Amino acid sequence: MKFDQVVKRFGSNTVLDHLDFSVDRGERVTLIGPSGSGKTTILRLLMTLEKVNDGVIWVDDEPFSHMRTPGGQLRPANEKHLSAIRRKIGMVFQQFNLFPNMRVLQNITEAPIHVLGQDRAKAEARARELLEMVGLGDRADAHPSQLSGGQQQRVAIARALAMDPEILLLDEVTSALDPELVADVLNVLRDVARETDITMLIVTHEMQFARDVSHRVLMFDHGRIVESGPPDQIFGNPTEERTQRFLRAVL
Ligand code: ATP
Repeated sequence: MKFDQVVKRFGSNTVLDHLDFSVDRGERVTLIGPSGSGKTTILRLLMTLEKVNDGVIWVDDEPFSHMRTPGGQLRPANEKHLSAIRRKIGMVFQQFNLFPNMRVLQNITEAPIHVLGQDRAKAEARARELLEMVGLGDRADAHPSQLSGGQQQRVAIARALAMDPEILLLDEVTSALDPELVADVLNVLRDVARETDITMLIVTHEMQFARDVSHRVLMFDHGRIVESGPPDQIFGNPTEERTQRFLRAVL
């Protein structure tokens, strides 16, 4: 995945300013930086909830924010292009957003059956495997309201994985949880990182988690990358004064 000179503005506010970065297949990259530095906007562009003002986002060497004309030029993506490419991307949000009227199993099988066209038995078997993986093998028939926030978030992780995404976006997935529920969710994500080769783009305030799972950390300020490197370097020996100041405030 590659951001190529991406500009995103809201009115006169330039949130991403000719942003360039790329993420390799299977790489796990964490975005850190102060509030308002543009981290969530990057994820929202990849979720196709926002459109770029300039520049191009690429996924698998295909233009993601744009599409090719028969003559080979790029023009802004239409809905059909976006929905095809959206299937490569799974996401887990701060708010779990489970379907409240569906049991846990159906929450997970809904999209594989109705979007990917999987048959029900196959989708259910996979959903049960994923529920085991997130430690909720015995809660398939529960309603979301019967689960704790941490359990709901683990279902949301299973739901995202059920679509077999190439890229998983995690947007402050523990921020809405009571502190005692955070560790279980992070441990599930550590397992996902260890047991799969999904590319992950992570926005989190959990710096120890970022250090444990990331191959690379990008430090943002005002829509630009001020520093990037392996987690041991960024957290242990940051070179930029802005990074040092940010880490002093959050650690
Ligand atoms: P946080 O850690 O607080 O979530 P962030 O680094 O994720 O911050 P963004 O949420 O990407 O930052 O926001 C970057 C800037 O874009 C902010 O100035 C924000 O006010 C602005 N912004 C984001 N979304 C919108 C929107 N829909 N309309 C107008 N401005 C927006």
